Amino acid sequence: MATTDAVISRTETLNKYLKLDQRGSIIAEYVWIDSEGGTRAKARTLKDKGGEKYEVSELPTWNFDGSSTEAPGENSDVYLKPVAIFDDPFRGSPNILVLSECINADGTPNKFNYRHECSKLMEAHADHEPWFGLEQEYTLLDLNDRPYGWPMNGFPAPQGPYYCGVGAGKVVQRDIVDSHYKACLYAGIKIAGTNAEVMPAQWEFQVGPCLGIEMGDHLWMARYLLARIAEDFGAKISVHPKPIPGDWNGAGLHSNFSTKEMRVEGGMAHIEAAIKKLEGRHQEHIAVYGEDNEKRLTGRHETGAIDKFTWGVANRGASIRIPREVGAKGYGYFEDRRPASNADPYRITGIIVETCFGAV
Ligand code: ADP
Ligand code: MN
Ligand code: MN
Ligand code: MN
Ligand code: MN
Repeated sequence: MATTDAVISRTETLNKYLKLDQRGSIIAEYVWIDSEGGTRAKARTLKDKGGEKYEVSELPTWNFDGSSTEAPGENSDVYLKPVAIFDDPFRGSPNILVLSECINADGTPNKFNYRHECSKLMEAHADHEPWFGLEQEYTLLDLNDRPYGWPMNGFPAPQGPYYCGVGAGKVVQRDIVDSHYKACLYAGIKIAGTNAEVMPAQWEFQVGPCLGIEMGDHLWMARYLLARIAEDFGAKISVHPKPIPGDWNGAGLHSNFSTKEMRVEGGMAHIEAAIKKLEGRHQEHIAVYGEDNEKRLTGRHETGAIDKFTWGVANRGASIRIPREVGAKGYGYFEDRRPASNADPYRITGIIVETCFGAV
């Protein structure tokens, strides 16, 4: 030991500072979506309102230096407009996470701000009470971009034992998955569940049912938490839809959808009418359902082919699946299996509502 004779535990040291009184202030971490399909964040101090929670409308608009990401250097400030507040699981309450929309200097939405358009669609069609539940699949990579638990040279044993697997050799990094689950609940994200996926080192979490614009807000904040927690564990998150080519499952963002008409008796007629409309705009949907999705939607590995629209009850090889219990009951919801894991949930939920009920 060169500089100290005691072994320093970084966790204990961090916890010592996290417990310090904040003397009447709270920390607000502003989170936004960047040009690469990830999240970025920075923090500022706000006054503690004596334990009372902030409303979105009370939070200051902020900005960041867009030249370090996308915007031109001479006019590089991008505004951060607060749109949703969550409790901060890292610093603990009363500290908060503030999801923010990116707005250009002239007041128009930033190029990568898909929330703006989505929220208009959701408002216009709010009378149908659109519910969404998204299944986010992802792959855990080490710092060399190799899936965790995979041999340095070569491949693990073929797929089969890994889906919902239990036991050493079948799953890895469950600590990250559980930390994320708890952090989502603490933050107030409507996380619905989690499971190990078909490819080793691949996992899924579901968020929903969420109403309208809330779907994109909750999923993006859940993605931020996942990246932030993986950082704590020294892992990387990949949302590439086909992280390993060949006989390995890709990663999707299955999107479950219903309206108030679909959720009651007689709902199947509304479900089938929606599927007919989706069929007519297959290519438009594929265009916003994620990059590199053609590597995943091959018609194999529980997917439909990218150039063909198909649907069926309990059919996991179709574009659209009606869950078996929905088919049996005659009402409920359906699943759009086409979106890739790297798709923007605002674009998915926006185009589904637009196709079913019209543009704004
Ligand atoms: P799968 O069987 O395809 O793996 P999951 O259980 O992973 O399905 O995910 C189903 C998702 O559907 C969940 O996020 C759930 O919240 C959502 N969901 C359930 N009911 C509805 C509904 N009526 N409308 C929209 N989404 C729903
Ligand atoms: Mn600076
Ligand atoms: Mn699932
Ligand atoms: Mn899955
Ligand atoms: Mn699914």
